[in-house]
Amino acid sequence: MAIAVRKFDALVIGAGGGGLRAALQLSNAEANVAVVSKVFPTRSHTVAAQGGVNAALANVLPDNWHWHMYDTVKGSDYLGDQDAIEYMCRAASHLVIELEHAGVPFSRLDNGKIYQRPFGGQSQNFGGDQAARTCAAADRTGHAILHTLYQQNIRAKTHFFDEFFAIDLIRDEEGYVLGALVLEIETGEPLFIEAKTTLIATGGAGQLFRTNTNARINTGDGMAMALRAGIPLQDMEFFQFHPTGIAGKGMLITEGARGEGGYLVNGNGERFMERYAPNAKDLASRDVVSRAIYLEVHEGRGCGPQKDHVLLKLEHLGEEVIAKRLPGIRDMVKTFLHFDPVNEPIPVYPTAHYTMGGIPTNRHGQVVVPEGNSPEQAIPGLYAVGECACVSVHGANRLGGNSLLDIVVFGRAAGNHISDYLKQNRYHRPKPQASIDRAMARLARWDRQGEGESIYALRDELKLIMEKYCGVFRNREILTEGVAKVQELARRVPEALIKDHSKVFNTNRIEALELENLVELGLATVTSALARQESRGAHSRTDYPQRDDLNWLKHSLYFREGGRMDFKPVRMKPLTVESFPPKARVY
Ligand SMILES: Cc1cc2nc3c(=O)[nH]c(=O)nc-3n(C[C@H](O)[C@H](O)[C@H](O)COP(=O)(O)OP(=O)(O)OC[C@H]3O[C@@H](n4cnc5c(N)ncnc54)[C@H](O)[C@@H]3O)c2cc1C
Repeated sequence: MAIAVRKFDALVIGAGGGGLRAALQLSNAEANVAVVSKVFPTRSHTVAAQGGVNAALANVLPDNWHWHMYDTVKGSDYLGDQDAIEYMCRAASHLVIELEHAGVPFSRLDNGKIYQRPFGGQSQNFGGDQAARTCAAADRTGHAILHTLYQQNIRAKTHFFDEFFAIDLIRDEEGYVLGALVLEIETGEPLFIEAKTTLIATGGAGQLFRTNTNARINTGDGMAMALRAGIPLQDMEFFQFHPTGIAGKGMLITEGARGEGGYLVNGNGERFMERYAPNAKDLASRDVVSRAIYLEVHEGRGCGPQKDHVLLKLEHLGEEVIAKRLPGIRDMVKTFLHFDPVNEPIPVYPTAHYTMGGIPTNRHGQVVVPEGNSPEQAIPGLYAVGECACVSVHGANRLGGNSLLDIVVFGRAAGNHISDYLKQNRYHRPKPQASIDRAMARLARWDRQGEGESIYALRDELKLIMEKYCGVFRNREILTEGVAKVQELARRVPEALIKDHSKVFNTNRIEALELENLVELGLATVTSALARQESRGAHSRTDYPQRDDLNWLKHSLYFREGGRMDFKPVRMKPLTVESFPPKARVY
């Protein structure tokens, strides 16, 4: 079958903050750019980011990028690559000011400067007093950033393919990535978008877990596409559980709520974080607070009739602060819990939030894989940024406010690198028909009729397995069972059926493709978690409770072929400053 083809210099898959920042850089450099998004761009998950973006502007308390770098390295439990972290923290102030000039309506201090709030894991002077580093537009920062970046792209004449679903990367025999096969959701027609470079910016995979803060679209499609193209995924065992999801529902209550002075109490009314993190207390890093809540509840000190959550108290902040700094949280609590947090504490419990692992890249956004004796060889024409990528600035645990920063910093960096690549690679390469046929075959698999299990039931089952067998605490026994369960489910997926066989606007078919992607990522996550025999950051093994730098200060790589694991060194050497060597991590 002849497929329609459109040609561009650069293809960007994903219209969240990462994809849009890269596209903007490219369009402004006169490249011909296509952005593909399965939802209208401003519905990407970046829109839901609440608390803010980190930059050492020092508007509220003394600060500098080097302290920010130290906090990020420590927050990552020393697994972050220090060259990339230095690059990000140095670039932060410039990029936040740039966002302000592009139109982001940041909240203000009385002196007119950008408002900054304290967030978890932030310190002054390399581990001293709490810092205030998170620049916020009330509690709707991501909304402001995403809309601004979208408008700037419209002005720069970026070409948008809205509601197009990327199926697979197209790669030739020599390893060059030459675009992607996509599906127009409205008509069900496939389209090959041919491009000299392809950037994956498809966001995280929070939908792997039953209780999560993510949008329903966050199914990790780009990471699964990379796996199918022979690229390993890095550090997938590190999944962040945010401490304060609305109990039983999962929606996020921003860390900014604690940044503004909110705190947690257990069933005895005790401010328990004082026991777990005597200095930082409620603003210790997320892995620490999530484990503390889990332990309080599992040792019988939870709240409510089932003793299955703890409470986040905001009432003492007063109505004025809550209305001004946390209006979105107040709305959300009113809508979903039917009370006003001005009067009552909010029931909270850890919820799956952020994918630290992802497609391995260097700080230019180039996708890199091990080859021969070299740990890193760039794949020609392929880039990744944002939550789907692992650059790695977050290591084993991301600090709040560092992801919005990650997407703008590395979105810009990738845009710049792609511009240079385009100057040296001016012509399209021959179309690799075999790769296009393979991607088409994946689509055709969902056309069959007959009896079979429902894809929706399988998706729910996967999310329950992941929650039960790959949660906040893990051990060998649980994870071994988890691997077996996901493998068994993976075998059932090809036999599953979708109800609706029409091609036009068939969201069932999209959900089936997403389910395949989720299963790939489920396997990557549990397999990597079983492999890592230590506790570091968000990965807590009850059978290996200590961090083990001697054996495990290294990144993991999961390959789809045979579920093979490999490892590569952490880049401990920053660009210009001294390295921060691992030490005990206390808050
Ligand atoms: C509720 C919530 C609050 C948060 N708050 C903060 C915060 O305050 N500060 C902070 O730093 N971080 C925060 N984060 C994290 C941060 O918002 C995200 O990590 C970041 O915005 C991800 O951006 P992205 O560009 O990588 O991906 P996303 O914004 O998730 O965008 C992904 C894009 O890829 C597209 N896509 C995906 N698959 C396909 C496909 N198959 N075909 C075509 N298109 C596809 C989607 O349509 C979308 O456009 C928060 C996250 C959540 C969930």
